[in-house]
Amino acid sequence: MIENKYIFVYGAGISGCGVAEVLAKNEKQVILFDDEHKQIDAALVFMLLQSGGKFVCQQDPDEYLQACSLVIISPGISINCPLAVRARNMGIEVIGEVEEAYRLYKGKWIGITGTNGKTTTTTLVGEMMQSLPVKTKVGGNIGLAISKEAEGLGADDWLIAELSSFQLEGVTTLKPNIALILNVTPDHIERHGNMENYIAAKANIFAQQTREDILILNHDDKTVMQFAEKTKSTVCYISRKRILGRGIFLEDGKFIIACGGKRIVVCAVSDMKIFGSHNEENALGAIACAYFAGVAIDEIRNVLKTFQGVEHRLEYVMDIGGVPYYNDSKATNPDSTIKALESFPGHVILLAGGHDKMTDLAPMMKLVKEKTDALILLGEAKQRFYEAALAANVKNIYLVDSFADAVNKAHELAEKPQVVVLSPACSSYDMFENFPQRGRVFKDLVHQLAK
Ligand code: ADP
Repeated sequence: MIENKYIFVYGAGISGCGVAEVLAKNEKQVILFDDEHKQIDAALVFMLLQSGGKFVCQQDPDEYLQACSLVIISPGISINCPLAVRARNMGIEVIGEVEEAYRLYKGKWIGITGTNGKTTTTTLVGEMMQSLPVKTKVGGNIGLAISKEAEGLGADDWLIAELSSFQLEGVTTLKPNIALILNVTPDHIERHGNMENYIAAKANIFAQQTREDILILNHDDKTVMQFAEKTKSTVCYISRKRILGRGIFLEDGKFIIACGGKRIVVCAVSDMKIFGSHNEENALGAIACAYFAGVAIDEIRNVLKTFQGVEHRLEYVMDIGGVPYYNDSKATNPDSTIKALESFPGHVILLAGGHDKMTDLAPMMKLVKEKTDALILLGEAKQRFYEAALAANVKNIYLVDSFADAVNKAHELAEKPQVVVLSPACSSYDMFENFPQRGRVFKDLVHQLAK
């Protein structure tokens, strides 16, 4: 290898494989590299070879880097990892996969970020945008490589990108027509080093925006509000808590758009199937994105009224004997479980525990005491959860040995007007491959009980 003709794609996951495929199709020579031994699609290996590149695992990357002109980093890997630092020292540009997607596709972009609620909001926006007479695609952190989703889109088509801080860390020229920041609370500090860096990564979503672009900010979030002073974009606020002179907000339980001298009632919160104050925030964000992208109010309203939510996020499973069962397997930290508990008036039978992330449990247990009739604990975390629950004076605690025992115990205890909620406040790795698998097993067990 002598010329600097290759593009080095670091990480052979969804994003890395996606961008490598798109580049290879565009006859670029790609070195798709992974530190670990990975199995990837044979068709992709072939495609890389055909365009003069290759798939490389577990080798010294330096030999390859020397022949590269660009490094594209997958979101799972830090933009400041040793390989990226080495590449920059060699004078090679290092960017994230989303940045490459933007360089490949300069049509219309909606970028959605926040600590929580991204997937729900992005999915809602994606559904609302389907009524437009142009092509629309959803991608990014939602589990679809953004560069791949952008393929085939024209200048008037829309790309709706769910963007995590990991993805935003690696963008330099991204300039979405519409950007939304839902909320910013401490998260992923282990990756970003400190809260400032995490906030700075989020701010990349609007860093290149100018007056013709729209930045939607959550008026109820102090950290998000700091962005208002730092942007050149046209700012629109959303709020659950305040009636705004201009913006999109809740008033008397209704979603209101007050923009450009108009006042539009979209629909009532009670018209929606998804529930909980966090979902009101997500709905406000989605309404704002779709409205500025030109979606008709009727279409926005229809989607709000019919949207069932995203799987594993306070997902209604079924009623057994008049008791509803909910799958909130995505709640992998206490904050998410708090959101779940806040969404019910009380009488919750809560199934919690799993792989312990050693997070502070006191605020969650305070709410557990208020909202639950019984707490069923399982997994690696059960003893620590048990002690925290006792300290918060929680009554009716049951420790069980298996996931099936937990569901059976809930069924044995539950009667009207109680609700059974799996919202573990833990990741799933002690018993499952990931949270979707945990959620599916829960749903299967509930369906079996019903029989
Ligand atoms: P993300 O994609 O940002 O992880 P999701 O839409 O997948 O967000 O929701 C994940 C969990 O985060 C939900 O189960 C819920 O507990 C919590 N959540 C969702 N929306 C919000 C919000 N707007 N504010 C706070 N928490 C939220």
